[in-house]
Amino acid sequence: MYDVIVIGSGPGGYVAAIRAAQLGMKTAIIEKYSTLGGTCLNVGCIPSKALLDSSEHYHNAAHTFKTHGINLSNLKVDLKQMISRKDDVVKQNVDGIQFLMKKNKIDVHHGMGSFVDKNTIKVTKEDGKSEEIQGKNIIIATGSKPASLPFIKLDKDRVITSTEALKMKEIPKHLIVIGGGVIGMELGSVYGRMGAKVSVVEFMDSLIPSMDKTMGKELQKSLKKLGFEFYLKHKVTSVENKGKEVIVKAENGKGETIEIKGDYVLVSIGRKPYTEGLNAEAAGVKLNDRGQVEVNEHLQTSASHIYAIGDVVKGAMLAHKAEEEGTFVAETIAGQKPHINYNLIPGVVYTWPEVASVGYTEEQLKEKGIKYKSGKFPFMASGRARASMDTDGLVKVLADAETDEILGVHMIGPRTADMIAEAVVAMEYRASAEDIARMSHAHPTYTEAFKEACLAATDNRALHI
Ligand SMILES: Cc1cc2nc3c(=O)[nH]c(=O)nc-3n(C[C@H](O)[C@H](O)[C@H](O)COP(=O)(O)OP(=O)(O)OC[C@H]3O[C@@H](n4cnc5c(N)ncnc54)[C@H](O)[C@@H]3O)c2cc1C
Repeated sequence: MYDVIVIGSGPGGYVAAIRAAQLGMKTAIIEKYSTLGGTCLNVGCIPSKALLDSSEHYHNAAHTFKTHGINLSNLKVDLKQMISRKDDVVKQNVDGIQFLMKKNKIDVHHGMGSFVDKNTIKVTKEDGKSEEIQGKNIIIATGSKPASLPFIKLDKDRVITSTEALKMKEIPKHLIVIGGGVIGMELGSVYGRMGAKVSVVEFMDSLIPSMDKTMGKELQKSLKKLGFEFYLKHKVTSVENKGKEVIVKAENGKGETIEIKGDYVLVSIGRKPYTEGLNAEAAGVKLNDRGQVEVNEHLQTSASHIYAIGDVVKGAMLAHKAEEEGTFVAETIAGQKPHINYNLIPGVVYTWPEVASVGYTEEQLKEKGIKYKSGKFPFMASGRARASMDTDGLVKVLADAETDEILGVHMIGPRTADMIAEAVVAMEYRASAEDIARMSHAHPTYTEAFKEACLAATDNRALHI
């Protein structure tokens, strides 16, 4: 009898297992694939960032090195090597998780986990053999899978998801991306930087629609420079694979149908919770109408000793959100009283420029009727950004009109994925814009743009603009 059994070894599951083991609980983890780490390490965060880094190097070599005074000849992409380096990076990371399981004395069971009853899980291995294990507490961390539209046949050859986009055999000539969200913009950038024409079809009126509107607008400007073509407010009505050609039809706001021809279509309209084969009903675990495991504020399911975390439950589908929930549940089981501030989970898009955001968007503040003031600072005015030729983008700070407390920070620019951490710390400690404005930021750094935006929010006091 284990104290804790975790089903799924993504960032939610493996973190929950480590924290449970740290707290002295006898812990097992079940993973249906041969490698640990889930979507994030195998086909998500890590491989996409590996390819984003490689393609960015190529893009810079092709487009900005000359201005830096570096001349290259015969520059070309070796896609096979690029994908193989990405595979190495994935391997290092998944092996790292295997090591962490061993170090923390967590039993790893490879196979498909399904509930037999509320304390028993059957683990079915690839060869069909199975074993049963029992746990006092069970954590469902089975994650998510790419979503599609009912009329789209994902043939995984020309009509692909993010998983196939991470192991292409050729650079598309014309990649049509359905969905202007994070995954589509990141993977579109990978191939756009290496010469593919990229067309984005998005149903909403802006890119990355869940983020502050200014971010979507700025990102669109930058990606346009990269050659992206946008069809916003377009509803895809059909996708056809004609062998070497794919045809996407979409309807614009006026009801007219447009046709886009390309050689690959990336369907990146979001992800859906994954509970197939889990047999959750056998344990009395309820799903909601969106297919997510229903949980209360302690992340308990309808069976109180069974918890669920990460992409399979409500909330942002992000690795670090899943990790926080993993820790939260392990500590709850151990009798502690943990807390997660969901409003302060940052969101990042690893395009170039990067987009990073935390707290309320301007649209949310308006909707809530909260009086706010806004301060902006463009990277164009940053000495550090001029030095690296990364002048696209800006930092926008939203602060309470009366108290000056920072309510939201939205950044698009160089290295904002890392910069956003300062905003999270500031907001967790309920800093005012003036608090940050009065702190010394090393010069020259991109972080000065955050200080300047805080100065701008504090009585329009930005110094360098
Ligand atoms: C291309 C891409 C890029 C991304 N980039 C980022 C990023 O940069 N930053 C970020 O925060 N997020 C990113 N994400 C999202 C991130 O990957 C997910 O939010 C995160 O992986 C969710 O973690 P999880 O633990 O809930 O589930 P998952 O990582 O999906 O792991 C679930 C695991 O459970 C296993 N499993 C499922 N059912 C069973 C069963 N019955 N028995 C045994 N095992 C089972 C699955 O095989 C899987 O390994 C990206 C996603 C994609 C697709």
